[in-house]
Amino acid sequence: MDKEVTFTEDLDSSNIRIKQFDRARRHLADLKQGLIEFLCHPKRSICVSFPIEVEDGSIRTFQGFRVLHNNSLGPGKGGIRYHPDLDLSEVVGLAFLMTWKCALMNLPYGGAKGGVVCNPKELSEVDLRHITRRFISELGDNIGPYTDIPAPDMYTDEKTMSWIYDTYDIMHPGRNNRPVVTGKPISLGGSFGRHEATARGVLNATEHFLNKSPLNGLDDLDGATVVIQGYGNVGSIAAHLFRQAGAKIIAISDSQGGVYKKAGLDLIALDQHKQEQNTVVGLLDTTSVSNNDLLTLECDILIPAAIGNQINQNNVEQIKARVIVEAANGPITPIADDTLLAKGIPVIPDILANAGGVIVSYFEWMQNLENEQWTYDEVNEKLRRKMDKAVEIVLDCHKTLIANQDDDKAVDLRTAALVVAIRRIADVTLSRGIWP
Ligand code: GLU
Repeated sequence: MDKEVTFTEDLDSSNIRIKQFDRARRHLADLKQGLIEFLCHPKRSICVSFPIEVEDGSIRTFQGFRVLHNNSLGPGKGGIRYHPDLDLSEVVGLAFLMTWKCALMNLPYGGAKGGVVCNPKELSEVDLRHITRRFISELGDNIGPYTDIPAPDMYTDEKTMSWIYDTYDIMHPGRNNRPVVTGKPISLGGSFGRHEATARGVLNATEHFLNKSPLNGLDDLDGATVVIQGYGNVGSIAAHLFRQAGAKIIAISDSQGGVYKKAGLDLIALDQHKQEQNTVVGLLDTTSVSNNDLLTLECDILIPAAIGNQINQNNVEQIKARVIVEAANGPITPIADDTLLAKGIPVIPDILANAGGVIVSYFEWMQNLENEQWTYDEVNEKLRRKMDKAVEIVLDCHKTLIANQDDDKAVDLRTAALVVAIRRIADVTLSRGIWP
């Protein structure tokens, strides 16, 4: 178990997003103040409370949220997460990220996010089904195929999406409701490739970044050493995809801790161990490391793929990776961003690196609207093209920002990605014309 650490920096998710937005604003001097204010506030925040009779017979009250941050580009899009520490501010911050992510990826969506405060590890499948159905019925017509479209996020999966679809379909009989939610099982209109899309997008972004902007001899994944924090849907699949691409996974962790092996982990043995023991910790022939020590290991590529604020004021000085790829949402705090920039460690930001999930969600939505099923290869090829294009746009914007600024302050890739995204939303908002 990791030891308790104290923080002096502000770790509030919404405040962090505003700070990141403020950094980008410096390069968007022509944006009107009123428009900036509008982009800093969520359009709509819904909080619901509801009782559930859980399997042990007791009645418990759960709190749920759905935040639509912005819908200038199209309907809200974003996941639903189940987590005991969730609060409204976190959901707002995550909805912000979805707005920027969808804009950066040129998807016809605004940003949204939702969740229920609960601990799925302590609830049965029946409890989770009841919670999901009740939550979706409480949201009523605030979600819909053309208004706000949920998807999987932390501790929700294909099964959760099936219950969301089924509940909405029962509430709206007689029409094609499949596009109301993405990340569904294939049998219910899910897309091939959606399950591993986030991890595959992380791989695409990393490969293309290294190819376009090599790091002193590191221009592909062949032989590159990789450390991954997190063994959920993204971390575990990314480990296999990076391994197949020629990289060596030297350390990986889950919420209980991590394992390290300099020569590279045996991923088959690791999966088996995780399945049997419910943790990666204790895998034969490996050294145990805490989640914090794992982040500070020497490696070429560090992939935080777990929760937010993991690289922060307290550990950033010790980071030794050559590049960080944000597979999780918001794993690096603003103070840590500054230090990494000063240390010359590039960060491929979350809204770029982990956009593969929402990109294939968009493909699923399109297939549902047209009653089509694209092949696995078709989906992966379209995903790769979208990721490559976005990497190039961010690198170009980064170069332009550096060339155009009048001081010699360094600029990071997060700021460049945000400038592209905010510019797109601002342009669309203004060309639609402010209502009325
Ligand atoms: N939850 C994922 C994200 O944070 C996917 C969202 C979606 O597919 O709509 O990007």
